[in-house]
Amino acid sequence: MKIVFLGTNGWYSTETGNTSCVLVDSDRYYVVFDAGDGIYKLDKYVTREKPVHLFLSHFHLDHVFGFHVIGNLKLDQGLDIYGQKGIRRTLSRLVQHPFTLPFRDLPTDIRIHELSEGTHEVPFPVTCKFLVHSDPCYGYRINLDGKTIVYCTDTAVCDSSLELCRNADLLIHECAFKSGHPATNWPHTNPQEAAELALRAKVKQLLLTHFDAAIYRSLEDRKQAEVEARKTFKNAKAMVDGASIEI
Ligand SMILES: [Zn+2]
Ligand SMILES: [Zn+2]
Repeated sequence: MKIVFLGTNGWYSTETGNTSCVLVDSDRYYVVFDAGDGIYKLDKYVTREKPVHLFLSHFHLDHVFGFHVIGNLKLDQGLDIYGQKGIRRTLSRLVQHPFTLPFRDLPTDIRIHELSEGTHEVPFPVTCKFLVHSDPCYGYRINLDGKTIVYCTDTAVCDSSLELCRNADLLIHECAFKSGHPATNWPHTNPQEAAELALRAKVKQLLLTHFDAAIYRSLEDRKQAEVEARKTFKNAKAMVDGASIEI
């Protein structure tokens, strides 16, 4: 199974990358986490052979801006979008005139699914839980090809994230802040906190993404985050756009 990072910036796009989007290419399904503007690169990796399941963490624009370009991807197999209760109504307000073309006018068949907190078969197992952020935000745990992958973005480390990522093969975690960043009312995570979480939860591998564009101004800053994280959890890596790993 291959995981490809299409957008690794938080907040806005800069020369360091696009905003949040991660592709999981498994045997039978494509899974996409979030629809930041990095999603336009999906057409390089996705064929018509497998269904595409997109999981949305929350509605901050750096996670949904990509819906503006979704029609260009020509997903003949359609697109299944999953998210928290109310997602259908919220997206129908955003993906709409006068902002952009509504889903119903796209050539792609878009199917939206509202998930309550808990575990579902979609048809593979997915568990979603609310994290700690300034607006409601889901973390996801999925099982594919015998592996467990957890995606936690836009959150402070919390009981829900610990529960979601326990013993996971791979934890994809946000790293919006630098170590020592003061707590704010817009909760996020720094490299040290993400590494401590990975250690406590006994995950096998930690990949850091969603680097706040205003705080991480260069890729060198991200390398520093990786160094920080590895002091606590050795198998940690800072991601950049275009990076991919096999698990
Ligand atoms: Zn974000
Ligand atoms: Zn957010």
